[in-house]
Amino acid sequence: MIFESHAHYDDEAFEKDQKELLSSLKENGIEYVVNVGASLASTKATIELINQYSFLYGAVGVHPSETAELNEENFKWLKEQCLHDKVVAVGEIGLDYYWDEPAKDIQKKWFERQLLLAKEEKLPIIIHSRDAAQDTLEMMKCHARDLEGVIHCYSYSKETAKEFLDMGYYLGIGGVVTFKNAKKLKEVVEYMPMDRILLETDAPYLSPEPNRGKRNSSLNLVYVAKEIAAIKNISYDEVVDITNQNAKQLFRIKD
Ligand SMILES: [Zn+2]
Repeated sequence: MIFESHAHYDDEAFEKDQKELLSSLKENGIEYVVNVGASLASTKATIELINQYSFLYGAVGVHPSETAELNEENFKWLKEQCLHDKVVAVGEIGLDYYWDEPAKDIQKKWFERQLLLAKEEKLPIIIHSRDAAQDTLEMMKCHARDLEGVIHCYSYSKETAKEFLDMGYYLGIGGVVTFKNAKKLKEVVEYMPMDRILLETDAPYLSPEPNRGKRNSSLNLVYVAKEIAAIKNISYDEVVDITNQNAKQLFRIKD
């Protein structure tokens, strides 16, 4: 069965049919889902969801674009959430220079703090990095060498992939790999070892072909797995099995 390593089922895009959709995942071949926090509010919503659904696990963290909301008091609250027994990672955290807000120094300050939090709580990390490859790598070489984690929705070059892989990180591969013009990402998948790939949607965003542009959900991971199977010239079942084992290993989920 498929392990979905990155989704946002607390997003308002799922407001109308969240229950129905989540209840249908298992019968459609989705074994586990990590619901990922991206702000204090979505971290709180993630905790509520993992309390309700046995197959859901959670990541707690604040996305770089939302770090202006952090202060010492609510950071303490975030730290407390790490103690939940179904919280399996700190994330998504990182740097996003695509948007100008908040300033780079604020993003960097809270990225570092959340990396240290993961270290203290002995949790893996889920990294969001957009238009910020160099600074992300630099900060991770400083503060995250002895951590485990995944570069979610990997979007950089093969050369940068090598640097993350050499540090022991996994790369999250999602809908973009099915796009015709995603030459760079297809090359990364061809190059990287199978035992470092995690399947992810980033739902509700980044639907794969043939559903590009529509709301995404874990049900679309079949298209991602099929594309990876074609690139790697292995079977669909192998892709599903290996990526499932990878995710269980990283997030320390026992069969
Ligand atoms: Zn995300």
